[in-house]
Amino acid sequence: MTSATAQQTTNAQTTARRRAATPDGLGLIHPIACERAEGHLLWDVEGNRYYDFCGGIGVLNVGHNHPKVVQAVKDQADKFLHTCFHVAMYDGYISLAEKLNNLVPIDGPCKTALFNSGAEAGENAVKICRMATKRTGVVGFERAFHGRTLLGMTLTGKTKPYSAGMGPFAPEVYRLPVKPFFASHRRHTDAEVERMAKDALDNLFAYHIEPENVACVMIEPVLGEGGFYPAHCVAMKILRETCAQHGILFIADEVQSGFGRCGANFAIERYEIEPDMVAMAKSMGDGLPISAVTARSEIMDSLHVGAIGGTYGGNPLACAAALAVLDVMKDERLPERALKIGEKVMALFFELEKTYDFIGDVRGLGAMCAFEVVLPGTMTPDPDRCGKILAAARDKGLLIMRASGNVVRTLMPLTIPDEDLDDALRILKESVAAVA
Ligand code: PLP
Repeated sequence: MTSATAQQTTNAQTTARRRAATPDGLGLIHPIACERAEGHLLWDVEGNRYYDFCGGIGVLNVGHNHPKVVQAVKDQADKFLHTCFHVAMYDGYISLAEKLNNLVPIDGPCKTALFNSGAEAGENAVKICRMATKRTGVVGFERAFHGRTLLGMTLTGKTKPYSAGMGPFAPEVYRLPVKPFFASHRRHTDAEVERMAKDALDNLFAYHIEPENVACVMIEPVLGEGGFYPAHCVAMKILRETCAQHGILFIADEVQSGFGRCGANFAIERYEIEPDMVAMAKSMGDGLPISAVTARSEIMDSLHVGAIGGTYGGNPLACAAALAVLDVMKDERLPERALKIGEKVMALFFELEKTYDFIGDVRGLGAMCAFEVVLPGTMTPDPDRCGKILAAARDKGLLIMRASGNVVRTLMPLTIPDEDLDDALRILKESVAAVA
């Protein structure tokens, strides 16, 4: 048998090879093959240049190949690639843990354990909370996304495409409704939200699981894959208070919303709420696979030796990248930049909402912004027209993606200069006009 040649010439050829060699279950957002990328730009194998508003699905807050990250990884590669932190320790892991312990918005001494992916961070967060509380129940939300492992997909509050047909699922997972906690400030008064959130929690504890058996609640401050819904600040406060009242640990899943994206180091800071634990990944490594769980020391120390860890967690190259990311985030004031980017993006999205009857809700926090594409004059999702907007944008040189079928979302590198941001937004505006 002859194997396919490694040479890639066109996007179509690469797509055909991909279809033949990899399973259909691996989704593909844009049928282009990357040749190189830099900052907020990506070039395909045909030489087309794109503004990248996908950022590898929220991984590239500091941009593709940030020179400081690349240099840090090269320097580490010259020393050693791997020891396994359990075999022989190294400074990068410990320095990164020290920095994250100080960075998370949690009072008191913290500790950090490193893993490889967002799903692994979530899984380990739950393990640690169960051991710390000696309870088994875990509460998540409708529309949440926490990854594709067994516990991750069980906690994920959407059946298709994430869990349908893949049961049985992990036990002791309970779900709160999305509406009270992610209600729109534009459509509901604070008093309404307070009543809805309290009712939902009362209902959970009365009919599903008693609070004394709940170890933790896991919440994305802004639902990512679920459609870019920022949590409502009143509901967040009620959730926080309820957790404190019953000894339930509050986990902020900051995998997509963290590292400056929402206008603060972590999105939860925008709510002025102190979580008990933060799960993070994605933009932490600028593309190198790394994730983390950080919480107060007494929580993190509630496991026996060997209960957490792994062969690759906190790999030296990934730690070097993450340490550089933290420096860049601070030096280039990326959380502040996210606020400025968000203002520009939301101004366009509100304009689109006023202009077109097929643009539904507009929402966002910092530079995590979105608009819905709906059937004209209704709230009914229109994934077809949404797909046409994405295709039109790609043809004009902008890679942008959707969440939950009909929601156009922005995950551009926060390092994008104003001039290119304006040009990319012009393309998006024209792409929406093109499908009107
Ligand atoms: N949690 C959130 C909020 C996410 O957005 C994602 C991925 O999109 C995950 C967890 C899972 O991360 P990973 O794909 O790295 O396992």
